[in-house]
Amino acid sequence: MSVVDEIKQRLDIVEFISTYVPLQKSGRTYKALCPFHTEKTPSFIVFPETQTWRCFGACSTGGDIFSFVMRRENVDFPEALRMLAEKAGIALRPLDRAEMELKGEKERLQAINLTAAQYYHHLLMHSPQGEAARRYLERRGVKRETMVAFQLGYAPEEWHALEEHLKRANFAPEDILKAGLTVKSESGAVYDRFRGRLMFPIRDMQGHVIGFGGRVLDDSQPKYLNTPQTPLFDKGSALYGIDLTHKSIRESGTAIVVEGYMDVIIPYQCGVTNLVACMGTALTEEHLKILKRMTKQLILALDPDAAGMRAVERGVEAAQKGLEHKVVPVLTAKGLVRYEEQLNAEIRILVLPEGLDPDELILRDRSRWDQLVANALPVVEYFTDLVLNAVDLSKAQGKREAVSRLLPVIAAIDNPVARTHYLQRLAQRVRMDERQLLPELERLRAGPARSSPPDRVAKAPAPTAPTSPLGLEERCLALLLGFPDLLPDVLEVAELSADVFQDERNRQIFEALRRFTSEHDEWSPEHFALGLDTELKAHVESLLQTLHVGPPLSPEAAHEDLMKCSTRLRKSYLSHLLRDLRFVLQDAQEQGAQERIRELNATIERLTRDYLESDKRFYAATLLGRKKAKEGPLSSDGI
Ligand SMILES: [Zn+2]
Repeated sequence: MSVVDEIKQRLDIVEFISTYVPLQKSGRTYKALCPFHTEKTPSFIVFPETQTWRCFGACSTGGDIFSFVMRRENVDFPEALRMLAEKAGIALRPLDRAEMELKGEKERLQAINLTAAQYYHHLLMHSPQGEAARRYLERRGVKRETMVAFQLGYAPEEWHALEEHLKRANFAPEDILKAGLTVKSESGAVYDRFRGRLMFPIRDMQGHVIGFGGRVLDDSQPKYLNTPQTPLFDKGSALYGIDLTHKSIRESGTAIVVEGYMDVIIPYQCGVTNLVACMGTALTEEHLKILKRMTKQLILALDPDAAGMRAVERGVEAAQKGLEHKVVPVLTAKGLVRYEEQLNAEIRILVLPEGLDPDELILRDRSRWDQLVANALPVVEYFTDLVLNAVDLSKAQGKREAVSRLLPVIAAIDNPVARTHYLQRLAQRVRMDERQLLPELERLRAGPARSSPPDRVAKAPAPTAPTSPLGLEERCLALLLGFPDLLPDVLEVAELSADVFQDERNRQIFEALRRFTSEHDEWSPEHFALGLDTELKAHVESLLQTLHVGPPLSPEAAHEDLMKCSTRLRKSYLSHLLRDLRFVLQDAQEQGAQERIRELNATIERLTRDYLESDKRFYAATLLGRKKAKEGPLSSDGI
C-alpha cells in the first residue's frame, strides 16, 4: 500500500477537519462554516462515506484530506504529505544525503537572513545613520508601527558592516555569500551587497526571510537592488507581503497584484490588506499557482505604461529577457487567458490613473481605489477595448488589424460558450459576419500550439477495451498518460477538470499533465515524471502499468475508452454534487433562507442541464455514439 493510501486509512477526515473547524452532524454528512471564506450560513460539507469535503459557497471546490491540508496550510502536495504522515505516525522514506544537506543549508540561510533583517531594522529605527531613511519613509506616509510590521531596515553606507555583524554571530563566510548578502569580486575581495539603502525583507508565506530588496535614497543607480537567485530566493516565485496578507486574501476572496514594495505597505497601513507585489518581474505561472491556492480571483493592477497594448503583447519577450531562468511569463492577453483556464481562476485588469501608484492613490482617495477595483475588467474584455480603441474601425485596414490581434486571444479560450460570446462581440464591433471569422478562428485553434486530435477514422470496428478493476479516475489518468494526444478532446468533450478528481494524487497528476503538454511539444513519460514528487512518480508508474494488462490498445480504442470513462467520471462527479446540493437545499429550506434557496436552485438547474448535455457531447464525439445516434432514438435530438 502506498503511503498516501495508508494515511487515508489511518486518518478519518471528519475527525481531522474537526480539529480545525467545529463540525455539525447533518444527516449522513457534517457541515460547518467554510474555513476558507467568510460566510454566515454553513456551506462547507464533509462526507464521511467518501472521505471528501466540499464548499458549496464562494470556493465551490472540494477534495480529499490532502486537498484540505494544502488549502488550509498553504502548502504544496509533498509538504501536505509530510504533515499528514507525521500526524498518522507513518514514517516517510528518510531524506537522502543530498536532501539532508539542502535542508540544513536552507535553515542556515534563513537564520542568516533573519539576523540581517533584525540588524538592518535596528539601524533604521534607532541609529543616527538611519535618519535619512527614516525621513524618507515618513515623507512617503509610512507610520512607525508599519515600519515595525514589515521590519523595514537600513543598510549602512559601509563595505563590511553586515559581514562583520554576521561573522560575530558565528555564521560561516561561505553561507553569508550564498545568502546573497555579500558579493565576491573577481580579485576575491568580499564586501556587503547592500550599502546605503532602505531595506525591505522579503518573506515566504510562513514568514521566513528569503531575500531582500534595497532602494537607494538618492539618485544613484540601480534604484532597486534585489537578492540574486539563491537556494532560498527565486524572483519568479517570491511575492512581497504574502506573509502578512495571505489571510486577508483568503477571506476577501481576491488577490490584487501590484508592482512595488510601497504599493503593498501603504495600502496595508490604510486597511487594504489583500495585496502582494511581484518584484520587478512579470507575473509568472509560479506566482499564479501560489495565489490560486488562496483564491480564484486575481486582479492585476497595472500602471498605464505596462497596461498599454505593446507592453501586453510584448510581455513574453520582455519577461524572457529579464529573467535568468525558465519561467512562463503570463503577462500577455493570450497567456493570461490560457492560465485563467488552466488554473480555473478569474483574472481581471485594473488600470491605474496616469502617474499614480497604488500607494499614492489610496493615501489620497480611498474611494477611487475601491471603485477601480470594482470596475476591473476581465482579461479578454480589457484587451478587446484596448485594441478597438487603438485602430480606426471605419477603415478596412483598421478592421483587419483588430481581427488579427484579437482572434488569437479568443482562440486561446477553451470554454466554447465564452469563445462564441467573444467572437460574436468582436464580429459586432467590427461589423462583420461572425461566419467570416470562424474559419480563421478554427485554424488558430488547430494551430501548432495545441496538439491536434488524433485521426478518428477507424478502419475496423474498434475492439472494446478490457474491463479494468481500476476506479474511473485511475482509468482516465492511465489512458491519458498512455495517449496524451487525447487530452484536448477530453478537455473539450468531457469537460474534464482537475476538480472532478477527488483523490488529490490524481488531481495533481492531471494538472501536471495539462501543464506539461501545453509547455512541451514532445511527450516523454520519463521527462514528465522528472518534475514530480516521489509519491506521485510512483503513482504514475503504477497507472502506466495497468495499460499493459490485456492486449495492446489501438489509438482508436483508447479514444473510445477514454471518452467513455471521462464522460462517466464527470457525470458521477456531477451526480454526487447534485445529491449533496439537495442536502444543502433542504437545510436552507428548513431555515427559510430565501436568497440562498434561489441560488442553490439555480446551481442545481445548471448542473442538471450540464449532466444531461454530457451524453450528447459524448455521442457526438465517439464512433459508438455516432452509430448509436444513427440507429437509436437519439437521432431525433438532431445529432
Ligand atoms: Zn468556502
